[in-house]
Amino acid sequence: MTPRVDNSYPIEIAAPDITPYKAGNTGIDYVTTMDSGKPGPHVMVTAVVHGNELCGAIALDYFFKTGLRPHAGKLTLAFCNVEAFLSFDAADPTISRFIDEDFNRIWSADVLDGPRQSQELTRARILRPIIAEADFLLDIHSMQKKTEALMLSGPLPKGRDLAQGTGVPKIVVTDSGHAAGKRMRDYGDFINPKSPKNSLLVECGQHWEKASETCALETMFRFLVHTGALSAEDAAPHLGDTPGQQVFIEVSGPVTITTDKFRFVQEYNGFEVIEKAGTVLAYDGDSAVVTPYDNCVLIMPSKRLGKGGSAVRLGRFISH
Ligand SMILES: [Zn+2]
Repeated sequence: MTPRVDNSYPIEIAAPDITPYKAGNTGIDYVTTMDSGKPGPHVMVTAVVHGNELCGAIALDYFFKTGLRPHAGKLTLAFCNVEAFLSFDAADPTISRFIDEDFNRIWSADVLDGPRQSQELTRARILRPIIAEADFLLDIHSMQKKTEALMLSGPLPKGRDLAQGTGVPKIVVTDSGHAAGKRMRDYGDFINPKSPKNSLLVECGQHWEKASETCALETMFRFLVHTGALSAEDAAPHLGDTPGQQVFIEVSGPVTITTDKFRFVQEYNGFEVIEKAGTVLAYDGDSAVVTPYDNCVLIMPSKRLGKGGSAVRLGRFISH
């Protein structure tokens, strides 16, 4: 087996102790709902869908410690793939992404209702009713490579609107996910154009860089204000500077790996803009993978280049 230790990036942040949140108050471990007692949406923020992505756990821990309560409606804070998160080891930080399978590729009804078993499916089946109940979801993640933070707003205009209302991070990517399976942010009514339910997935920067923590907090507080869960007054002491103009990128599709021999022609970190259509990016076995259009933006090139996975996503700039 190839060693999975990744020493490419220093570990600048620490996994918080989340055991105080195990009991919660919903009957589901590590899930807490705060009810304002006033009408309003059910807003949800989720962390550690991938166990090695620490910034979401730090953001939820921070929120709990402020003692803040929702201003209207209900607010649910949930730690998702807790088993994977609790296995986090700074000496081997990549290994705790999941236990059996990727928790963020199993959110279609056929998989959740199907016969397959895994630790992640067990947890997803437990969380499913509360995910289905949420009106607005922010799912906090981070990335393998040190690139600028981005919001994955999903395939619909309503996702872009929610990203714009949240106001951070600067880059908003509109996309449909992965061939390998459905993400939690794309579950049920979140991607039903007729439903007012809406969701976002924020990628806060490299997994273990200090900046990911800042981005997770800023995005969470601005999302909570925009969705009405928190008052602007309550959030103000926790917010940074007024954000600038956002940039929107539409993903035309992921490059899905079809062989056991996929390699990029050079090291890509993400957000490279390739000027000419037809430029070779990679080889998948013997086939060249080329840019399909001019000014093609590379988004989240992966280090895990296994068959069936997404090697990179390709996109272009759009107005909104
Ligand atoms: Zn993730």
